[in-house]
Amino acid sequence: MTGVGRLYGVGVGPGDPELVTVKAARLIGSADVVVFHSARHGRSVARRIAEPYLRGDQVEEQLVYPVTTEDSDDYQGEMDGFYEECARRLAAHLDAGRTVVVLAAGDPFFYGSYMHLHKRLAHRYPTEVVPGVTSVSAGAAVVGTPLVERDEVLTVLPGTLPPDTLVEHLSHGDPVAIMKLGRTVDHVRDALARAGRLDEAWYVERATTGGQRTARLSEVDSSSVPYFSLALLPSRPNHRRDSVGEVVVVGLGPAGPEWLTPQARRALAEADDLVGYVTYLNRVTANPRQRKHASDNKVESERAAFALDLAKQGRRVAVVSSGDPGVFAMAGAVLEVAAEAQFADVPVRVLPGLTAAHAVASRAGAPLGHDYAVISLSDRLKPWDVIASRLDAAAGADLVLAIYNPASRSRAWQVEAARDLLLRHRSADTPVVIGRDVGGPEESVRVVRLADLDPSTVDMRCLLLIGSSQTVVTAKGVVFTPRRYPG
Ligand code: SAH
Repeated sequence: MTGVGRLYGVGVGPGDPELVTVKAARLIGSADVVVFHSARHGRSVARRIAEPYLRGDQVEEQLVYPVTTEDSDDYQGEMDGFYEECARRLAAHLDAGRTVVVLAAGDPFFYGSYMHLHKRLAHRYPTEVVPGVTSVSAGAAVVGTPLVERDEVLTVLPGTLPPDTLVEHLSHGDPVAIMKLGRTVDHVRDALARAGRLDEAWYVERATTGGQRTARLSEVDSSSVPYFSLALLPSRPNHRRDSVGEVVVVGLGPAGPEWLTPQARRALAEADDLVGYVTYLNRVTANPRQRKHASDNKVESERAAFALDLAKQGRRVAVVSSGDPGVFAMAGAVLEVAAEAQFADVPVRVLPGLTAAHAVASRAGAPLGHDYAVISLSDRLKPWDVIASRLDAAAGADLVLAIYNPASRSRAWQVEAARDLLLRHRSADTPVVIGRDVGGPEESVRVVRLADLDPSTVDMRCLLLIGSSQTVVTAKGVVFTPRRYPG
């Protein structure tokens, strides 16, 4: 007796016994105990694949799933109990010094049941995982079409995801593999149709086995689809949804990838050219196919004309803005220039983004929970008189105020002027939220009294939310404006 035995999680590949690796075959042939899962009918896909490598005198441990579908009232509980019991059975062999090989169809760490045993045993016994050829690789091989190339991104999705989640993940246009078809095939087909991608999808059943079948997914009878099947949307490196140029004005959100919508992400990925103010453009990772055209933040109409010119030549151009492109940003500028006769044939789309006011508000609580007004303090594009009269009117109407562009390096006095103007309508105690670089690395959110608003603490990366007479700061420092207005 030489101590405990070794545990192996061995991938046996997609079906063809010749696709079992040399190493897997050797381990299967030399194991004391061979373990495989099966449903109650007792047939095991993995064992059938490994059959040629079994000696015939080995102990076989068949692990029969207690439930076959996730319809069971306590599926997770039953499965946890089942894996605990399986782990105990294997531990007994390992304690007796036996070598245990757990067979896994495909690859053990790729949606395999082996990992449930691994998590329970690998820290207790010497363990090795032997990778196998996955069904995704096998599927691509039998469809006979390259799966991913160049800068394409492969997405692997379980068909069991909710339909909306599937649609979201399908929207980027890059190659996709969808596993676990079986009973999910109708949902998967709907999601593909909604994402406009059903015509790209191949159906692959039991790849590399005698029962192999491939077809267009749209043409498959869904009642005949087994669990051992998948859908593949292979590579289309030269694919273009349309060859006509266009300008898409894309909102990046206030900061970071978390606040970029999937729709915006897809538009950025599909563009040939990315145009925008350098700070915002730096937030976008270009792929090698794309060209970036960075500009300073001054002449928006020139930037818009540049983008429209590129589109006129047939390029697909994304113009980026921070936040929402329609809020003090590029959408208006692009549409204004696009209205000129020379750009009459250039399509322009605007894709929304999360605007800074809403990001800041969420950090503070719900200060915009009732009516509010949005005002930019920048007098670069409008005279101060207009700004002052609008502040006056909005404050007189007891609106909460979201103030964009409160200050810049060359423009500092407006915050003080605005504060003094507002104090004519609002009490000194009115809560003011100062959100700076919200969502970004230098995020700060402070709440001060209006009378204490210090202009030297406000710069161009700040947004101010000025409460109405109803806005409350709770003992916890949360700011909200009640849904109901008195009267
Ligand atoms: N289109 C953008 C606004 C552009 S104006 C949007 O919808 O958010 C630029 C102003 O937006 C800044 O001066 C600041 O007031 C505000 N802002 C943008 N990002 C911000 C962030 N992460 N945190 C706080 N304010 C921000």
